[in-house]
Amino acid sequence: MIYASGVEDLTLDWRVCSRARLSRDPRFDGKFFIGALNSGVYCRSICPAPTCKEKNVRYFPTAAAAAEAGFRPCLRCRPECSPGTPAWLGTSNTVMRALRLISETGLEDGGVELLAERLGIGARHLRRLFLRHLGASPRTVANTRRLHFAKKLLDETILPMEHVAQASGFGCVRRFNAAIRATYNRTPTQIRRLARHASTLREDEYVLKLRFRPPYQWESMLGFLAARATPGVEAVEHGSYRRSIVLGNLQGYFEVSLAEEPDTLNVRIQFPDPRSLFLISERIRRMFDVNADWQPIARRLRTDPMLQAEVSAHPGVRLPGCWDGFELATRAILGQQVTVKGATTLAARLVRAFGGRLSAPNGLTHLFPRPDVLADAKLSDIGLPASRAEAIQALARTVCNGKIDFGRVADRDAFLKQLAELPGIGQWTIEYVAMRALGEPDAFPSGDIRLLQATGMTSPSALESRAEKWRPWRAYAAFYLWNSARASKGVSKALR
Ligand SMILES: [Zn+2]
Repeated sequence: MIYASGVEDLTLDWRVCSRARLSRDPRFDGKFFIGALNSGVYCRSICPAPTCKEKNVRYFPTAAAAAEAGFRPCLRCRPECSPGTPAWLGTSNTVMRALRLISETGLEDGGVELLAERLGIGARHLRRLFLRHLGASPRTVANTRRLHFAKKLLDETILPMEHVAQASGFGCVRRFNAAIRATYNRTPTQIRRLARHASTLREDEYVLKLRFRPPYQWESMLGFLAARATPGVEAVEHGSYRRSIVLGNLQGYFEVSLAEEPDTLNVRIQFPDPRSLFLISERIRRMFDVNADWQPIARRLRTDPMLQAEVSAHPGVRLPGCWDGFELATRAILGQQVTVKGATTLAARLVRAFGGRLSAPNGLTHLFPRPDVLADAKLSDIGLPASRAEAIQALARTVCNGKIDFGRVADRDAFLKQLAELPGIGQWTIEYVAMRALGEPDAFPSGDIRLLQATGMTSPSALESRAEKWRPWRAYAAFYLWNSARASKGVSKALR
């Protein structure tokens, strides 16, 4: 009765689920799903429909688990809109890595075998891990994600059916129609008729809504990104963040702001190929840490008097990620031994000299330089010290020859070890990349000057042992410490 059978290792019990369901608590949105035996549909914790009796509901850890048990998604609360899988599933690194690969490679039909091979384990073992941690097989998890994304596109865009089918990985319209009918008992056209959406958009423009579990410190997220925005590539103004993007040979941009409806980010994407929409929206989710689950983070960090006041005063600080790992690592190298402002000046020069041009109507003028361009660029021209120029070129070459692939990190430790072998990449850069490019919630750059100052520690090793009690959320602790340093000293003085 607690969860689908065989599911263990979950931090919620049914009493917690029941309380959250009866009070429609948004903090639990996406952390579990409710199957109603009478109607055969599954719902989010916040569903506005009248609540069922306890004996008539079943709780599931994921939407895929509810789907595997034969429940259909509710058309009222739209499970496809719930915030994504939170990091508390981090109890299984393999499952988290697998989910990451599923979202990064789009929704390809490579099958469980290919996925398992990439993760370096057997397919049967992977299936067992998925059942234990998510309550559903890898195939159902991938299918549920694909269906949910298709439903979102039907509801929130005016994309033609053929493109919806492609964008959500169905390949052809026939398979797409069949899957939607089987799941929703309605045709895609009927579903679209039920939805209300803006129609003032250009043909290659989309507005998507990304839900998060409250609280969310939007201001501190924007403040952090604003201080580091690369002119021409990124811009922060009027409460929104926007940037240019490139995938393959295609370019576009996106803009993120806080929506008027509760617990939602508004994302406007302009991109010529709708098949990339899933990947783009997944990357934006990670960049803005939409999937984070605040409660366990706060519980842990509040136990330390050093962080208690800051955490209580600013609930919901998120881990700012990045759009592109290579770009972030390059920025991190540019930021070695200079202020944030100094690094931004260098980044602006780098972009003007080596970045592609973008014609967008909103002040974005450039694309961040590609690795193959930087691999052979004369970086001394922009006033970069030889050692840092060398580091950037070594990184660019390693990305070009495929030894490092930020888009497909199957093994975090092996990836970071490879990165560490490059010249000019020290421990600080490694931890910073782990934090912001891999979204590692426990990454911690203990050699960071501002962290040492903020904590009053005299050495990185002293800070390391002080930070032990913040595990597994040391990255969040670092952002609290950085934010408090920024608030007390002003943005421009902040290092890096
Ligand atoms: Zn519902």
